[in-house]
Amino acid sequence: MNRPVIAFAGLTACSGCQLTLLNCEEELPQLAEMFDFAYFPMGRSENDDCCSLEVSFVEGAVSTPGDLEILLNLRSRSRLLVGIGTCALWGGIAAMKNHQPRLELTEAVYGNFANAVKTFPPGPLSRFVTVDFAVPGCPPETNQVMQVLASLLHGTLPVFPGYPVCTECRNRENLCLLIEKNELCLGPLIQSGCNARCPAVSVACEGCRGPATEANVAAEIDLLVEKGFSREEINSRLRRFYPEWDNGQRY
Ligand code: SF4
Ligand code: SF4
Repeated sequence: MNRPVIAFAGLTACSGCQLTLLNCEEELPQLAEMFDFAYFPMGRSENDDCCSLEVSFVEGAVSTPGDLEILLNLRSRSRLLVGIGTCALWGGIAAMKNHQPRLELTEAVYGNFANAVKTFPPGPLSRFVTVDFAVPGCPPETNQVMQVLASLLHGTLPVFPGYPVCTECRNRENLCLLIEKNELCLGPLIQSGCNARCPAVSVACEGCRGPATEANVAAEIDLLVEKGFSREEINSRLRRFYPEWDNGQRY
């Protein structure tokens, strides 16, 4: 059997999405038999920088010339490019301060060396290249990563639900933290797939999976303002994982 040749790469990120794969310890031997991991710097010491790839999985936001070089190289070698995780898809944590001047941020970290740091405001992969498929999450759910790999073996891609976390919350019969406990929960806006992990243990959804397909942002903001949250608190929570909400969006 010809094993699909794939890449797993990381740009500006915490590497948590790549760890999602490496943490699948029981499945890894079988995955190594089924796929040729030709380029996976976090998982192997020798990597092929030139070969053609069936699929590249890319984690992380693009925030340096080096990131861009890796991304363009992988895109040019790959039949499919899959963005894996919230940083790759929306900018994520890396982009949470994009509303502040870049120099101000680099000075806070690097002091007098700030000007020497070659960096620009972190952005999603789709700002630079075509992204063929998205695996959301911070980090992604293991079962969704496995679904993508299993589907690729059959020449397809899975369909992930586009409905919001609230739907999973209702399915689990959780107490609604937004309505019944007046907490700043982003569940109505956020893409499901985590089985409402946080509200299930009484923690409000912080939005780590990025926007649901038809997120009614304006209605959520109206509701939160009505409940007494300040615009500043709401914006700060919204920006944590996805910096570019359209606050006027209604569906
Ligand atoms: S707790 Fe949050 S995610 Fe759950 S139903 Fe309420 S608003 Fe939605
Ligand atoms: S409930 Fe919200 S914050 Fe928690 S894992 Fe799901 S999407 Fe992320």
